[in-house]
Amino acid sequence: MNKKPFVTLDKLKEINKEYPTPFHLYDEKGIRENASKVKQAFSWNKGFREYFAVKANPNPFIINILKEYGCGTDCSSMTELMLSNSLGFSNEEIMFSSNDTPAEDFVYADKIGATINLDDFTHIEFLEKTIGHIPKRICCRFNPGGIFQGANGIMDNPGDAKYGFTKEQLIEGYKLLKQKGAKEFGIHAFLASNTVSNDYYPELAEILFKLIVEIKEETGCDFRFINLSGGVGIPYQPDKEPNDILKIGEGVRKVYEKILTPAGLDDIAIYTEMGRFMTGPYGCLVTKAIHKKHTYKEYIGVDACAVDLMRPAMYGAYHHISVMGKEDAPLDHKYDVTGSLCENNDKFAIDRQLPKIDIGDYLVIHDSGAHGYAMGYNYNGRLKSAEILLKEDGSYQLIRRAETTKDYFATFDCFDIIKDLV
Ligand SMILES: *Cc1c(COP(=O)(O)O)cnc(C)c1O
Repeated sequence: MNKKPFVTLDKLKEINKEYPTPFHLYDEKGIRENASKVKQAFSWNKGFREYFAVKANPNPFIINILKEYGCGTDCSSMTELMLSNSLGFSNEEIMFSSNDTPAEDFVYADKIGATINLDDFTHIEFLEKTIGHIPKRICCRFNPGGIFQGANGIMDNPGDAKYGFTKEQLIEGYKLLKQKGAKEFGIHAFLASNTVSNDYYPELAEILFKLIVEIKEETGCDFRFINLSGGVGIPYQPDKEPNDILKIGEGVRKVYEKILTPAGLDDIAIYTEMGRFMTGPYGCLVTKAIHKKHTYKEYIGVDACAVDLMRPAMYGAYHHISVMGKEDAPLDHKYDVTGSLCENNDKFAIDRQLPKIDIGDYLVIHDSGAHGYAMGYNYNGRLKSAEILLKEDGSYQLIRRAETTKDYFATFDCFDIIKDLV
C-alpha cells in the first residue's frame, strides 16, 4: 500500500500563509467516515457505545465530531472529565478508566455521574472512603497476567502491566461491591496495544465473555456491559493492511452469540474505548525542512520536534513521511529527519529512504491524529503547535492556537521574578 497524505501541497501552502508550520492537521472527512463505520460495525448490539479515549486527542472540536456518531468519552484524569462535562457528556456517556487515581478525581467523576472503572481491589475501599458510598454502577478492570498471545502475531505482556485486578481479586471485588450496594456491573480489559489484526477484539471478547458467565454464576452480580477498551491499531507502516472494523464487529458478534446468548446474557452492552483507531490516521504533522546537514550522516532538520510528536523518540515508533510535491520521485536519498531538541533521539526518521529534500520542502508526518499533539510537552522551552481542522468542503479551521511565549511563562504569574515575560 502506498500511504498518501489526505491534503495536497497547494492546500498546505494556502494554510501556511495564515498559520506557520509546524501544525497538526486533521481530516474531518476521514474521522466522520470511520466513526460512522464503527457505529455500523457494532449496530447488532443494542447498548453498544464507543467511548473515545480522550487522552489520544483531547481537542474539543474533534470530540464534538465523534459525539455526533453517538460516542461517549473515556477519561483518565480530572481535566479529561472536565472537558467531557463541559462538552455536554453526562452520566453513562462518560467512562472513567484511570489508574493510581487521585482522590479528587474520584470525587469529580462521581459528581458528574461518570461510570467509574476501578483499576485495583484496594480502590474499592479507597473509593468508598473518598466519596462516601459505592456507586450503583461500577466497573472493574481485569488483568489475566502472563503473556497474551493471539492469532496473527498479536502479542503483549499483561503480566508486566501495572493495570487491573487478578482473577481472584476480581471475584472478591465484585462480591464486595455488591455487598456495599452496587447494582450494575461491568468488566474491562486492555491486553494488547496497537493490534493490526481483525482478531484482537474477538479474542479478547471470548476471554471476557467466558469470564463473565463464570463470575455471574459465582457472585450473582448483574452484568450490564463488557468494555473491550482500546488497542485496535492502525498501520503506521505503508506495507501493512488496515483493520476492517466491520469484520471486527462481526467477529465479536459471533463470539457473543456463541457464549453470552446461550448463557442467557444476551442484553449485555458492548463498549469500546478506542483512541488510536478513531483519529490516528486522520491527523498529520506538517513541518518544513529548515536545515540540511552533512557530517557522518545526512540530516534534514525540520521545524517540528519531539514536543510535537513524541512517539518516534519515545518508542522508536515508525511514522511515515511524505515529502510534498515529490510523491512520485525516486527514494534515492537516505536521511535522518531531526527536530531541534538537545536529545539525540529527537528524530522523526532514521536512515529513511526519501526523495531528495530541499530547504523549504513541506514534510507530512503521517498518523499523528492520536497520541500525537496529546503527548506533547515543553522540553527545551519549545512551544506547542497549533491544530487545524481540514473540513470536508476543503476549507480549514484553527481548532487550537499555537502556544505563545506568554503561555509558557504563565505559571510564574504569581511571582515577580520575570514580570516582563508574564
Ligand atoms: C490508552 C487507553 C485507551 C485507548 O487506547 P488506544 O490504543 O488509543 O485505542 C483506552 N482505554 C484505556 C484505559 C487506555 O489507557
